[in-house]
Amino acid sequence: FCKSKCFYCSFSSFAGMQSLHGRYCTALQKEIRTHHRKQQGTPLATLFIGGGTPTVLRAKQLSEIIDMCDQVYGFEPDAEISIEANPGTIDVADLQILRDSGLNRISFGIQSFLEQDLLELDRAHNSAEGMRAVENARHAGFDNISLDLMYGLPSQSPEAWQQNLEQAFTCEPEHLSLYQLTIEKETEFYRRLQKNQLALPDEDAIVEMDEVTELLCEKHAFSRYEISNYAKPGFRCRHNLVYWHNEEYLACGAGAVGYAEGIRSKSVEDPLSYCVKIEQEKDVIVQREKLDCEASFRESVVIGLRLVKGVSEHRLFERYGISLAEVYGTHLPKLVQGGFLEYSHGYLRLTPRGFRVANTVMAELV
Ligand code: SF4
Repeated sequence: FCKSKCFYCSFSSFAGMQSLHGRYCTALQKEIRTHHRKQQGTPLATLFIGGGTPTVLRAKQLSEIIDMCDQVYGFEPDAEISIEANPGTIDVADLQILRDSGLNRISFGIQSFLEQDLLELDRAHNSAEGMRAVENARHAGFDNISLDLMYGLPSQSPEAWQQNLEQAFTCEPEHLSLYQLTIEKETEFYRRLQKNQLALPDEDAIVEMDEVTELLCEKHAFSRYEISNYAKPGFRCRHNLVYWHNEEYLACGAGAVGYAEGIRSKSVEDPLSYCVKIEQEKDVIVQREKLDCEASFRESVVIGLRLVKGVSEHRLFERYGISLAEVYGTHLPKLVQGGFLEYSHGYLRLTPRGFRVANTVMAELV
């Protein structure tokens, strides 16, 4: 659920629908219990409550979901328990309830601290609310705060991006996710682009923004560990590292994508259909895909190259019993000779040049 639909959003999210929130939470708890019957015994190392905007639900509803996970699975002693939150959907009392319920990491969808950008994106909060949300989270005892910001926004200059990022550092976050705006089909921005009503920064401006990011992150001792993610030492997102290592995870909720027992699955997106199916004890999964060994190998390489460290040749061989050379033949040496990929300490990784055209390099390896 979300308060409203942002102009760039292609995620599975639904504005409004407040009357369904309670019913949805009940259904979600039921699904969590059902999953447990299938996957007995292992306490959770990480839990990630993502969206949409989870914090449009009441804090008490969210804390009941966390309690349910604790009752049926339990958490490892140092489990990372994260939530995505949007400023303007959460106040200091809510934050305190969430912190007391065991959440120890919060990721704010700030996107920009500049009023003009927030209006352009049709975000449901303003700049002051963004700053206040972070302050309130600190006050509630969160010591692992991540901020999501976007660059390459309509009419954005490298100077404006610098100002924005500097503002983010004044909040002293532990983690930053910095995403370049991409225009996805069926969004308001896509429609505007088709009508020539969207002025996006050119490639040179994007390169300058990347340089600004690199300089400021270095200055504040943030290291880049994934294409879009930067952290202070000890604050990499453990949950997301599971995705990038292409390891398995359970997923519950409408539109949730999970990966268990070698099968990638996706649940029905529409929240009402999701509730009805759960209530009638029907299967909520609408897509199932089991990749063969080579396809899964390729997927692990492509996802793993998102990490600055790259993919471990040894781990790939241990997991799949095949090597990079066997799968890619002469294709890989060409990308290495072209300066897009390199080998370092047993890892295959993107070079700085490769990072700038990461999508193209990855498309070659799928
Ligand atoms: S808050 Fe996030 S999920 Fe919701 S509409 Fe905006 S971009 Fe989409």
